[in-house]
Amino acid sequence: MSRLLLHKSVPLLKAALRPLADYALPPRCPGCGEIVDADHAFCLACWSGMRFLGEPCCARCGLPFEYDRGDGAECGACLADPPPYDSARAVLAYGDVARAVALRLKYGRRIGLSRLIAKQMARQVPAIGNAVIVPVPLHRWRLWWRGFNQSALIARHLARLTGLRADNHALLRIRRTQPLRGMTPKARARAVRGAFALSPGHELKGRAVLLIDDVHTSGATAAACARALKRGGAASVHLLCWARVLPDGGD
Ligand SMILES: [Zn+2]
Ligand SMILES: [Zn+2]
Repeated sequence: MSRLLLHKSVPLLKAALRPLADYALPPRCPGCGEIVDADHAFCLACWSGMRFLGEPCCARCGLPFEYDRGDGAECGACLADPPPYDSARAVLAYGDVARAVALRLKYGRRIGLSRLIAKQMARQVPAIGNAVIVPVPLHRWRLWWRGFNQSALIARHLARLTGLRADNHALLRIRRTQPLRGMTPKARARAVRGAFALSPGHELKGRAVLLIDDVHTSGATAAACARALKRGGAASVHLLCWARVLPDGGD
């Protein structure tokens, strides 16, 4: 008798809960949290506020150019003082929406956003064969405190999307670093010097590395990672980020 009742009540219960679940979890804009039609879709206001980066740009650091300067042209900063990475690209200029998505992933624990970010980044993967995806690592204490490394989450999705291998353990942050916010470029470079090293037994010798970070600010962190990777024998290092702070302030 009770079994019969239970069987009957399950579909009823499901039907009763469905509208509630739908109501509790409507798709929301990853930029501002507005309710939108589909999962991981930006609302119109956020969409129109995003500045996607692409060609023409500096062949090395990806700085947008006003006009096409020809294949392989580099910006003045790269010519004067070439960064240790071979190329750097980002999906978006750092602005309100790019920042909101990055902060929601990192501090709001909306880890589902790592998939959306990886999907956008997949379009910017440079044509390099035999590459290994390596995320910018967190120090183990910070990893323990936060529970996840946002760049490693992005790297995992990117590996799935591109068929490239991700290695989350090859590059280590061996020294804790202060948050770089507010520091001058020189102070940033000093703060991250010697902070990264390759783990013993890594398999990056002779390989191209696709280095993953969420936000490219001064490039100090990426440069320190690239130096460690190249010291360890990586053939080339290509930085790929969600957003890049542009010298003019972005958006
Ligand atoms: Zn929005
Ligand atoms: Zn450049």
